[in-house]
Amino acid sequence: MAKTPITVAHGDGIGPEIMDATLSILKEAGAELDIETIEIGESVYLRGNSAGIDPSAWESLRRTKVFLKAPITTPQGGGFKSLNVTVRKTLGLYANVRPCVSYHPFVQTKHPVMDVVIVRENEEDLYAGIEYRQSDDVMMSLKLISRPGSEKICRYAFEYARMHNRKKVTCFTKDNIMKMSDGLFHKVFEEVAKDYPDIENEHWIVDIGAAKLADKPETFDVVVLPNLYGDILSDVAAQITGSVGLAGSANIGEGAAMFEAIHGSAPRRAGQNLANPSALLLGSVLMLVHIGQAACASRVHNAWLKTIEDGVHTYDIFRDEVSKEKVGTKEFAQAVIARLGKTPETLNPVEYKEVSDPGKVPTASPRVVSPKKTVGVDVFVQYQAGTADDLAATLEPVAGDFTLKMISNRGMKVWPGGAPETFCGDLYRCRFVHPEEGGTVSHQQIVDLLGRVGGAGIDFVQTQNLCYFNDERSYTLSQGE
Ligand code: NAD
Repeated sequence: MAKTPITVAHGDGIGPEIMDATLSILKEAGAELDIETIEIGESVYLRGNSAGIDPSAWESLRRTKVFLKAPITTPQGGGFKSLNVTVRKTLGLYANVRPCVSYHPFVQTKHPVMDVVIVRENEEDLYAGIEYRQSDDVMMSLKLISRPGSEKICRYAFEYARMHNRKKVTCFTKDNIMKMSDGLFHKVFEEVAKDYPDIENEHWIVDIGAAKLADKPETFDVVVLPNLYGDILSDVAAQITGSVGLAGSANIGEGAAMFEAIHGSAPRRAGQNLANPSALLLGSVLMLVHIGQAACASRVHNAWLKTIEDGVHTYDIFRDEVSKEKVGTKEFAQAVIARLGKTPETLNPVEYKEVSDPGKVPTASPRVVSPKKTVGVDVFVQYQAGTADDLAATLEPVAGDFTLKMISNRGMKVWPGGAPETFCGDLYRCRFVHPEEGGTVSHQQIVDLLGRVGGAGIDFVQTQNLCYFNDERSYTLSQGE
């Protein structure tokens, strides 16, 4: 078999020790790897590179497209950007995959039967990081969910399920509230599910879904989520297996992929041959499957399961009742190497399928351009001079060829006919529409309107066109509208 080039970073803290342990196991297991080493993390940050990664490292990553990364230390103090976010966004790593498995009775857990894979969208949602202060009272963060982004991650989840003999994919959203953004994710999930009739699918509202996941994880299989819910629930899921220290993760994109442990660099444990290399090793197993070395991945994973089952444990999972031998990082690696070729007896052995086209991941369908018309505009204004009625009295005379349809505050209609009890901050949304239902307005009319609003002494801070796509209203009504 030809060797696959990969880029390896040894990281900071316990990183170099767990990476050495991992690579020694991969070598003995017969992984066909051609390793390029790069330096990332603390030393790079402290040399003045605010993202913790040098241009030469990017060259290696672009060449190999596969990155096995040990944890790094982010230096204290401001001005340092997250290396993980930089790598994910630069390389378009849209899927974050985290298997969360219980190893009962060998690792203590309240959930003995748990084998859940969290597939988290990795690029969109509130993580676009587009935020503004809009007024004295209000900060805004934009939540962006796209059709291609949702399609790629949902398709990835179903493809993952099919490849790994999983029976069900569950989607969590909050589309009872966020009908358009989470609504799109849910809708695309259902569309994609139709292409996988062999796999069961279901959807839960994220709040009750999260409660169920924490209480009865054995009822879930693969779970696909938008970014923020996925970030939170992937940590919950890893924690309830008994230890976040045993989970590896994959960050997958169309052109590259990164594999890592989910834990950090544990600086207080560094250099003492104490750290558990399991999470990085399991991350490297995901890598082997991704690059088409499934047999080797199974060999490593089964030897690791056997080691855990035999009670050979590092300090973090050592318990007198079940552990037999407390070992350091190096000795743990040697114990795994000694068990290569063996399979576990109590824990379920794994057998990864060979993929015909390694590294290939789902892409989005071509964009469908829809007929669109603009029927009005929401003008957000900072207003502190009076009530919503006073604001309406100032705006109605300058509405011109628009009708001022309503004013809302924090999404609640406060004019016309607002409730006196409703609390108002200083940011109002003023909805101007064509006087006839569905009538269209031009960009120039909107620009002229803004000129008149500004001329009336009103401080507008943001506008949002109100559109119909495919003759469908493509904005929400405010509560009470
Ligand atoms: P951490 O995950 O490093 O440590 C949390 C706790 O878990 C500590 O008690 C630690 O000793 C223990 N632990 C973690 N990994 C272990 C292992 N393999 N074996 C045994 N014990 C282990 O989290 P932290 O202390 O919040 O962060 C330390 C540093 O790591 C920070 O600089 C942080 O920015 C960085 N970090 C990096 C990554 C990454 O590179 N992906 C992720 C998280 C944190």
